[in-house]
Amino acid sequence: METKTSYLSDYVQQIKPSGIRKFFDLAATMEGVISLGVGEPDFVTAWNVREASILSLEQGYTAYTANAGLYELREEISRYLDQRFGLNYSPDSELIVTVGASQALDLAVRAIMNPGEEMLIPEPCFVAYESLVTLTGAKPVPIQTTAEKGFKASAADFEAALTDKTKALLLCSPSNPTGSVYSKEELESIAAFAEKHDIIVLADEIYAELTYDEPFTSMGAIRGMKERTILISGFSKAFAMTGWRLGFTAAPPVIRDAMLKIHQHAMMCAPSMAQYAALEGLKNGQEDVERMKKSYRRRRNLIVETLNEIGLGCHHPGGAFYAFPSIQSTGMSSEEFAEQLLLEEKVAVVPGNVFGPSGEGYIRCSYATSIEQIQEALVRIKRFVEKRA
Ligand code: PLP
Repeated sequence: METKTSYLSDYVQQIKPSGIRKFFDLAATMEGVISLGVGEPDFVTAWNVREASILSLEQGYTAYTANAGLYELREEISRYLDQRFGLNYSPDSELIVTVGASQALDLAVRAIMNPGEEMLIPEPCFVAYESLVTLTGAKPVPIQTTAEKGFKASAADFEAALTDKTKALLLCSPSNPTGSVYSKEELESIAAFAEKHDIIVLADEIYAELTYDEPFTSMGAIRGMKERTILISGFSKAFAMTGWRLGFTAAPPVIRDAMLKIHQHAMMCAPSMAQYAALEGLKNGQEDVERMKKSYRRRRNLIVETLNEIGLGCHHPGGAFYAFPSIQSTGMSSEEFAEQLLLEEKVAVVPGNVFGPSGEGYIRCSYATSIEQIQEALVRIKRFVEKRA
């Protein structure tokens, strides 16, 4: 007898698997594929960071840590947030070390959302947001954005979507998949909206270190916002540590304590060896972060300029490591373009529609891969587009 789908939770049945994986699975069966698909650094984690983790194992530090994470690490995160972004979070009462920014997001959503309540989410956006909100019984409310407006939502856009059920909004800056970065003025305007309507802001700032044109402004640093902001961040991107699964969240004590309750029961603590690695990264890793960032900036400039030359109009991404060009001139849908490009030219990109309806007509190209690979991918994309001209 087949296992019944009615065994499953209603909420789980409402969510879809990530649309990105489908293309990775297809690409994995082919040879000679250049992947601009995956959102992770091509760099290996710095040696001193790996060594610190090995040392922790050699020294026998293999037990649970405090639920909120090693105190030393929380102290270091607190110092780092202050020095880099002017944020002021207490290691005792306002920080939790998590299993990636992914778990931080899950904790934040579960700590604040009740069934029926609404969260405003500008799209195109990171694929997990909608599902995490749906899993709580709350409702994700997509806010459409356009390339003309830099794929950013304004206070007016949020205002237009406001209902008496709106509880929170989720802002990702720099953005996956568009690379857009919200300026201080834009954040101030959204902050005013949040204060006026008593809205909680989830600020996914996992790419905060990776801005190439202007210094980054954090939502929690905007006056009056710390009390209503949950910061989501981590080590995966800037420190090239995706496989270590280490992130953190910072929030006012009431919200942080609620998140910690979930974390205690669902996870206990983040892996100890990854926490020792992150500690070393924060103490001695800033030069490596800068070195990688310099390299991403060069790649960003190359890919955006060339895509525009090829005729795939690309808005200027100020951060993260994604270009989000339009493929509308080809007359193909995002899915068709990505699939045909993979089959004909062996270049893997992600169709923009997997990030939400505003992403239709676009593709996401990750430039967290070597310059040589990017150059070859661009030659292939050019050939592919010219065949359709
Ligand atoms: N938030 C955004 C915007 C991301 O792009 C990602 C990963 O791609 C995450 C969160 C999750 O990161 P982590 O590897 O720390 O779980």
